[in-house]
Amino acid sequence: MSDGRTIDFSAIDWIISDVDGVLTDGTILLGADGSEQKRFHLQDGHGIRLWRRAGGDMALLSGRASPATLRRAEQLEIKHVFEDCHHKLPVLKEFLKTQGISPERVAYVGDDLLDLPPVRHVGFGVAVADAVDELKEHADYVTSRPGGRGAVREVIDYILKRAGKWDSLMERYLV
Ligand SMILES: [Mg+2]
Repeated sequence: MSDGRTIDFSAIDWIISDVDGVLTDGTILLGADGSEQKRFHLQDGHGIRLWRRAGGDMALLSGRASPATLRRAEQLEIKHVFEDCHHKLPVLKEFLKTQGISPERVAYVGDDLLDLPPVRHVGFGVAVADAVDELKEHADYVTSRPGGRGAVREVIDYILKRAGKWDSLMERYLV
């Protein structure tokens, strides 16, 4: 992991995430007709709802284009989805610029080399547990959960707890 710079977690209100290998375990079930199926984790889905309830927003930045990704984004009400991004940093920078978001407000989650420039650009760069070593080396945080197994949920919980937003979110579950 990158050496300990101070991160202001209360300032982070965007999670921008890769899809394959982060929200999924990186496998694709390919049908003979070319259709693709992916496996998403429900704990990530609920985490994203918590994140939004805490005032956060989310965007997806994927190297591949896939109807399954768009369907999952629709379910999770993620409006900003960028697919087919082989060079992710220019797309990320343009998005942040048009939305008026400074990099310090962003957590980026990835698993492979395509994610290295975004991980190094944002305020809180995260690699999932089964990411490639080079990404882990440059990340501010490496999750204990692998991609597709609640890694994004772990990132959300981690940020919300350090931002002091966790306890009020838990009130509705502790009645
Ligand atoms: Mg990936």
